[in-house]
Amino acid sequence: MTLRENVPLASLTTLRVGGIARVVAECRNTEDVAEALAYARTHALPHVVLGEGSNVLASDTGYDGLVLLMRDESSAYDEHPGFVRVTLGAGYSWDRFVEDVAQRGLWGIENLAGIPGTVGAAPVQNIGAYGVEVESSIVSVSVLNAATGEYLSLPRAECAFGYRDSRFKRERELIILAVTFELQRTGTPHTHYADVARYEEAQGKLVTPLAIGQAVREIRSKKFPDLSLCGTAGSFFKNPTITVAEYEALRARYPELTGFPMATGVKVPLAFVLDRILSLRGYRIGPVRLFEQQPLVLVADIDSATSAAIDVLADDVAQRVHDAIGVAIEREVQTIPRK
Ligand code: NAP
Repeated sequence: MTLRENVPLASLTTLRVGGIARVVAECRNTEDVAEALAYARTHALPHVVLGEGSNVLASDTGYDGLVLLMRDESSAYDEHPGFVRVTLGAGYSWDRFVEDVAQRGLWGIENLAGIPGTVGAAPVQNIGAYGVEVESSIVSVSVLNAATGEYLSLPRAECAFGYRDSRFKRERELIILAVTFELQRTGTPHTHYADVARYEEAQGKLVTPLAIGQAVREIRSKKFPDLSLCGTAGSFFKNPTITVAEYEALRARYPELTGFPMATGVKVPLAFVLDRILSLRGYRIGPVRLFEQQPLVLVADIDSATSAAIDVLADDVAQRVHDAIGVAIEREVQTIPRK
């Protein structure tokens, strides 16, 4: 395990803001994680876990504790007649994994191509895109309970997966060490989302995981900003799920508003509200703006943006949505508190 002191969180997160973290531990395997937790206990420090930092907002005031940087990139393939089980360390790059299995012609996660972040972060918010959620390919998640020191292998049914949600969001003591996936040797393309269907219409049928993955990366690259040019965490807010009655009332005012039935109500595309109702494409306050190509995405100017400036814009946008349609929107991005 490598320990570093006084590390800027801005260098560890894709929004590229955040003050100094007191100690950062690079963990390349399970023993490193246990060692880092022992260090935190000895020094009475709280801890927080980071992968590539692609879905977090770190405070300008920094973090007065220990950051565990998950860097275990191990991988093991277990071949079976109809499927392959793959176990990956939490630090393995998510998109590299999507590409690896697509190259082998394996089905299951091709729609999740081009999402930044690590394998260990994927179950936390049950990443999903274009009609597929990662939970459907997960067999189990290996965790270390930082509170009890216990190692557990949690089968999918015990992960409490929901829409961009899992128990790992609430039970922060569970540190994800590795994830086991099952990918299929045969599969059916999920190309019904409008963007993918339009791509197929223009370019021809997508019939392999590799072709779908490439198409999705191309579609996403037009909607999400280049991480090398600006700070961003992708979609900053969740698409809200509202009641059927609320949806009907909104539809009466905005007939073009689409809605997608969920178990708990109707999911509405927030981008429509931000763009078509509030005209907030490119809306800027100081060094922070909503992305012109996809207003759900918040973009922070490199070097001049701060977490305070991000909070100002995000709170302003949430207030405008509430004033316009009476819906309280939630952040998808997780905050790293000072302590
Ligand atoms: P989009 O495809 O324009 O979709 C906007 C919203 O409408 C989403 O809530 C989406 O549901 C819903 N929707 C669209 N077509 C649907 C259909 N045929 N059936 C059911 N629901 C439908 O969204 P986008 O912003 O360009 O993003 C593309 C995809 O990447 C979306 O699936 C989005 O959710 C996903 N994404 C995921 C993350 C993440 O996991 N953290 C971050 C950014 C974007 P879904 O959200 O259920 O797809």
